Order: sequence, then structure tokens, then C-alpha cells
Amino acid sequence: MNKLTDINYVNGVLSKHGFTFSKALGQNFLINPSVCPKMAQLCGAGENTGVIEIGPGAGVLTNELAAVSKKVVAVELDKRLLPVLEEALSEHGNIKIINGDAMKLDFHRLIADEFPDSDVVICANLPYYITSPILMRLLEERLPVKAVTVMVQKEAAERICAEPGTRASGAISAAVHYYCEPELLFRVSAGSFLPAPKVDSAVIRLNILKEPPVKAADEKLFFRVVRASFSQRRKTLSNSLSSGLSMPKQRIAEVLASAGIVSTARAEEMTMQQFADITNTLFSGNFGSDKE
Ligand code: SAM
Repeated sequence: MNKLTDINYVNGVLSKHGFTFSKALGQNFLINPSVCPKMAQLCGAGENTGVIEIGPGAGVLTNELAAVSKKVVAVELDKRLLPVLEEALSEHGNIKIINGDAMKLDFHRLIADEFPDSDVVICANLPYYITSPILMRLLEERLPVKAVTVMVQKEAAERICAEPGTRASGAISAAVHYYCEPELLFRVSAGSFLPAPKVDSAVIRLNILKEPPVKAADEKLFFRVVRASFSQRRKTLSNSLSSGLSMPKQRIAEVLASAGIVSTARAEEMTMQQFADITNTLFSGNFGSDKE
């Protein structure tokens, strides 16, 4: 029997090493034995694939990833879990644990050093307190990975996967859709974790695109436009852009008119192409009274 699917074994090894859960580090460990095998099967791992895991905890997902891939490198911030992982994963010869902070680690270097000749995927049950910053970091760095499969809170999953231009979309939807095609794979109830969080979760897979779906003349400006557009959700796009970009309302009205967007539009109605149109109009400076 696979000992890491046995909650008594996991509890035993955690208490043997005197481990207590830290809320601040987002430590909700998976105890539902059906979830980790499913994540490992769906994350794109294979016998020639390397996997990066963020936050292995007691190693329940790491164990499944090691069984279906060439090698797993898992990055854990909490030093107290190192002896736990060493004991729980001792049967595998293809796992490396790194004690480090996923917000600071040089992932390009890690991939070059650890996976010089294999395809790489990322798979993790993310600590919820840093879901968006970690995801945006992994995507913005344009890592040479095929897919990022992560467990996140259900509301975050729905927001991330929402198509820009629909009511459920937000700044993170547009940012994520710039780099990848997100897919909501399956939902996971709060009772699947120890300790149980207040809300349900979901597993999403971000399939990395070779090229962004729209052409933005300046990427940084594109993301500033997206953030500014959603900065005041209840206001119209022109008001949010005006305050978010610190530009007079009249100028924003001219930009929107040049991009063919009505002044009463709202951020959640904007498609990726319209965000790119606003960016490109701003970038060219070719609007309103300056127009040639
Ligand atoms: N993978 C385990 C599981 O599914 O049971 C644990 C998941 S738990 C939600 C998140 C894990 O991420 C914890 O082990 C926590 O210590 C670790 N963690 C928190 N912040 C981190 C960071 N900045 N870098 C790396 N690991 C982190």
C-alpha cells in the first residue's frame, strides 16, 4: 500500500517530528487520497518530464509526481518539514527537496541545472496567501515549461479561468490569458484538507502559449492598462483608467474613441483585443487633438 495515502501514516510522521501547522504559511495539507494521483495524471508529467513542485508539505503530492515523472524538484519554505519529507519520501530516488522561498528562487537557473534535457511542468497545491503573486511570477518570467497545474481556492480558480470580456473576469483573468490557456480541471471540497480551510478549492491547468493571443506594442503598458481598468470595479472604464493611469478624463475619452470603445464601457466587458487596442493607442500617442 502507498503509505502516503494513509492519513494515520502522515499524521504519525508529522507528530514524530513535532510538526504543527502554520496558518501564516498556508499549510492545509491534502488528506483526500484520490486528489494527488489525479493531479499527477493531469499535469502533463511523463517518464521523460521533469516536475517542479512548490510547497511539498508532507510529500503526498510529491510522492505521486515522482511515480509518473523522470524527476521532481520540490521547493519548501518551512525548514521543519525537511526531516518529514526525508522520511516520507525515502523510497524514491528521483526527488530533490530545496529549502527556499518560491517568491525569490531563480527558476530559470533551477530548470537549466536540474532539467537540462527534459520537458518541464509545474504542479503544486499552492499556499493560498500568495496564489496570485506566485502565478504571475511563474508566468511573467516566461519559464521554459509546458504547463502549470495548481490547486487554488475555488473563487480564485473561477476568476483566473474566466474569459476576459465576461462578467466573472478580473485583472488576473486578462493577465493569465496573455500567457496561457487556463482550464478548470476539477473541484476539491474543503474537507479534503487538514486542517480544513473555510472555502472549497479547485485544480486548474495553465497551458502555456507560444505567443500571446494579442499584439501589445508595450507589454508593461498592457499590464498597467489591465490593472488600471479593474482598479475601481464599480466605475466605468474611463474613470478607472483616468485615475489608474493618472491621465485627464478628456485624454482617456479620446483614447477610447480612437480605439473604438464606448465611453460607458466597463472593464469586465473588455476583450483581450480591446485591452491591446487601448494599449496600442496610448503607446502611439495618435489620438484626440494630437491626431495627425
Ligand atoms: N503539497 C502539500 C499538500 O498538498 O498536502 C502542502 C500544500 S500547503 C497548501 C502549501 C505548502 O507551501 C506548505 O508546505 C508551506 O509550508 C509551503 N510554502 C508556503 N509558502 C511558501 C513559499 N514562499 N515557498 C515555498 N513553499 C512555501
